[in-house]
Amino acid sequence: MKNYLKIALGLLLALALSGCSPEELSPLCIVHTNDVHGHISPERVEGWSKKLGGAAVLAGCVSDLRERNSRQGVPMLLLDAGDIFLGTPEGSVSQGKAVVEVMNAVGYDAMDIGNHEFDMGVDVIESLAREARFPILGANVVNSTTGLTPDFLHRYLVKECGDLRVGIVGLITQETPEIVMPGRTERILFRDSEKVLRSCMAELAQEGVDFIIVVSHCGLEADKKLASSVRGIGVIVGGHEHELLKRPVRIGSTGTLILQAGSSGQYLGVLSAQVDPRTGSVRKYSYEVLPLEEGRCKADPAVADIVKKWAAKTGEQFDRKVGTSLSDFPLVVDGESALGDMIADSMRAASGADIAFHNSYGIRNSLLKGAVTVRDVYKIMPFDNTLYTMTLTGKQIRKILEQSLAGEILNISGLRIEYRRSAPEGRRIISIMQDGKNIDDAKSYRVVTNSFLAKGGDNFTTFCEGREVVNSGVIDLNAMSDYMRSHSPLSAEAFRLDRLIPR
Ligand SMILES: [Zn+2]
Repeated sequence: MKNYLKIALGLLLALALSGCSPEELSPLCIVHTNDVHGHISPERVEGWSKKLGGAAVLAGCVSDLRERNSRQGVPMLLLDAGDIFLGTPEGSVSQGKAVVEVMNAVGYDAMDIGNHEFDMGVDVIESLAREARFPILGANVVNSTTGLTPDFLHRYLVKECGDLRVGIVGLITQETPEIVMPGRTERILFRDSEKVLRSCMAELAQEGVDFIIVVSHCGLEADKKLASSVRGIGVIVGGHEHELLKRPVRIGSTGTLILQAGSSGQYLGVLSAQVDPRTGSVRKYSYEVLPLEEGRCKADPAVADIVKKWAAKTGEQFDRKVGTSLSDFPLVVDGESALGDMIADSMRAASGADIAFHNSYGIRNSLLKGAVTVRDVYKIMPFDNTLYTMTLTGKQIRKILEQSLAGEILNISGLRIEYRRSAPEGRRIISIMQDGKNIDDAKSYRVVTNSFLAKGGDNFTTFCEGREVVNSGVIDLNAMSDYMRSHSPLSAEAFRLDRLIPR
């Protein structure tokens, strides 16, 4: 009998310690977007019969989720991981205001700052922060003179979600100064995200927070590293690389879940979690990523009006037709593509240079079969870069191409390169031909590139060594539109993809 009692007591104690009973877990629903890039109107997307995205459908789905969660007594958070506006006429012409107005209407709880928020300078972010009815987070962003968080940002946010006290910390990639237009992050420093996160978490522990969410514009690999080295992050709501994770990435050593929901307002991520407040981890969860195709949810009429208003404000200039395409030109960033070749050709045509270079990460959208308007071209190249011509030596050109083969592929025109990817870095090029002849290291060539690369963007600093540099003032979008007008109908097959030849 005594033994039975001992066993029974032991079992009771074990149950109490394991916390298995579901009433000790707290429900929380995290709904999220990232890298919307101004895509607030529904759009045609390769592989989809219905249009995708559009803030009105997003708003409809969010209010359905709010209703469902409130019926079930589940607190819900709506978060965005940054890069909200740059990429469409509505987003850029309004300098982000169109997207912030939409986000106010949809009722976001917070957003994280992305690198592209800096594209139009810090003043633009300041004015967006004034308009936003939600905090913009960026814990590792500081003013370079004071060392303090700029007024327009918050390091973190504490939210009461049912019986959970949730701390939400925002982080941005430290590479931001290299990947935005040089000069746009003046007076701003980007600190080490892990160190900053640890100190935020210590403060949040003092504030009695029992669950940590990191909203991160650092990219998936960086998020994985962070989640493995810092214990106690419940969830990372990620962005930056436009990764569509159908399922969360779970880090085994710490239990952190990492989410990321594509880009361009096409998807909405929904995590329904059961949180253990004593460990600050997600014990159980279900996850879905909803494609926001037309008809998925009832479009919200108030948000639809906001979108319509801003689309009208961008003016008719964007609806002008520039040509017709007979085929899709898909977006490719890790190799040669018909779209990249066409962009580089348009730069050469507009400048008369011998050789053109364009950064493939600067291509932001595909070109679809059918009528092509300025709006379509704008979505491909939304940065308003101007064309720069300069003189480079063959040696400098070789250096640029070697760098390209080791990282971000450059789109080229006027050259034919044979290379070996497996060769050691810096020795991958077998030959560079220009006009049927091998390029001469000592000879000078007239080169065109965009203002971003000309100023050493994405670390292509060799362009800064160019001589006789001329800013033509011609915007890349206009060069591309002119090219399309004179070469229409366009066909991807016309590009033979024989400029970058692997051996
Ligand atoms: Zn980004």
